[in-house]
Amino acid sequence: MKIHPPHQLFAANAYVDGKLPALRTIYKTAERLRMPVMIHTGTSIFPGARSKYGDPMAIDDVAQDFPDLRILMAHGGRPLWCDTAFYLLRRHANVVLDISSIPPRRLLEWFPRLEEISDKVVFGSDWPGPGIPGIREEIDGLGALPLKAATFERIFRSNAATLVS
Ligand SMILES: [Zn+2]
Repeated sequence: MKIHPPHQLFAANAYVDGKLPALRTIYKTAERLRMPVMIHTGTSIFPGARSKYGDPMAIDDVAQDFPDLRILMAHGGRPLWCDTAFYLLRRHANVVLDISSIPPRRLLEWFPRLEEISDKVVFGSDWPGPGIPGIREEIDGLGALPLKAATFERIFRSNAATLVS
């Protein structure tokens, strides 16, 4: 399941202030079912988007209120909130980074300490989203980065397997 705050027009933590109590039920249910929940973070340029809802800091509440919920933070808050995203990834054991929609050439620019969180990074392409050449191109672009072999194995395979185990 993906929560998409910039297009659904609510914050990912909108249950906290009572604006959207159903979110609490959704997170609680996903937590019980061990179902990962992907939350979009970062800006969106598609019609109708309100990018203010893309600030990943809202996940700070969700991660604490639902400690067993598996949260997949999509796009790492790119391009404005990558520092916030990195903080949250280190702060919360139940938050994992999905790197879809981050151009491979930008990944280490926006997450220069990626190796430190290599056990919490999952590959995604965002294909067939606009501007994404293809899954093969994304894989090749990522594979060309100066990362350790063990990091590639984690990003391309084992971290995702852990997430759905
Ligand atoms: Zn998204």
